[in-house]
Amino acid sequence: MATKIRTADNGVKYITFGLFDRAGLKHGFSTSVGGVSPDMYQSMNLGFNRGDSYDNVITNHRLFAEAVGYEYKKTVLSDQIHETHIAHVTEADAGTGMDGNGGIKGMDGLITDVPGIPLMTFYADCVPLFFYDPVKKVAAAAHSGWRGTVSKIGNVMVDKLVSDNGCKREDILAVIGPSICKNCYEVSGDVAEKFAMSFPDDIDNIAFKKGNGKYMLDLWEANRHVLVSSGIKEENLEIAGICTFHNPGLMISHRKTGGIRGSMAGVVVL
Ligand SMILES: [Zn+2]
Repeated sequence: MATKIRTADNGVKYITFGLFDRAGLKHGFSTSVGGVSPDMYQSMNLGFNRGDSYDNVITNHRLFAEAVGYEYKKTVLSDQIHETHIAHVTEADAGTGMDGNGGIKGMDGLITDVPGIPLMTFYADCVPLFFYDPVKKVAAAAHSGWRGTVSKIGNVMVDKLVSDNGCKREDILAVIGPSICKNCYEVSGDVAEKFAMSFPDDIDNIAFKKGNGKYMLDLWEANRHVLVSSGIKEENLEIAGICTFHNPGLMISHRKTGGIRGSMAGVVVL
């Protein structure tokens, strides 16, 4: 059930999750390896909004899709705003954002039950949450940065999968993807305080006092807590365990680069 780093024939390195591999869901999480963008964007930049050229980014999309095995022109992109809004994606949305003018606006989560429509969300330290219900055949993704984590977007997603798609909580597979780890993610006291309010029972496992009013924050544990509290079974939950900050040459980190960077992305395709 392990998370794997794979190298495709075209040289693109990407990450897959054992839980989804076993369930037969097409998916992948990009790395910084195998693209055509200049150094400041770290080669495999999949974000159209980073200042990189359209030609570079669309070429990267083509290469990444070739590696993972889906039709890149149909990809539906999110346009994330650190909220908990989630959109249902249909055939009519195919290709939204691939013209470089932004994905589905104001959405940190995407859900689809349509085969062949790739859902793509973007990352560089924030926590990716991916979902698959192999019974109802529904795939979903959500961007859970610290704000999304405090607001428990993982819980909003699971509730929506149940209410809108008829999923059963015990059937849903969930993955916490590559993101900044607890040894690398320092936050201020006011952020730690928001977590203490949102996670009163588990805060001792989530925020660790460091001194100087700073805390180290464990976003993986916080999201694990959110998902398990939402009814996801422990055996249906995988934590990739790959840190975006301390893996230069493989992962792109917003913090490490001061925001001058490309974007990685995760894709799920029914
Ligand atoms: Zn780390």
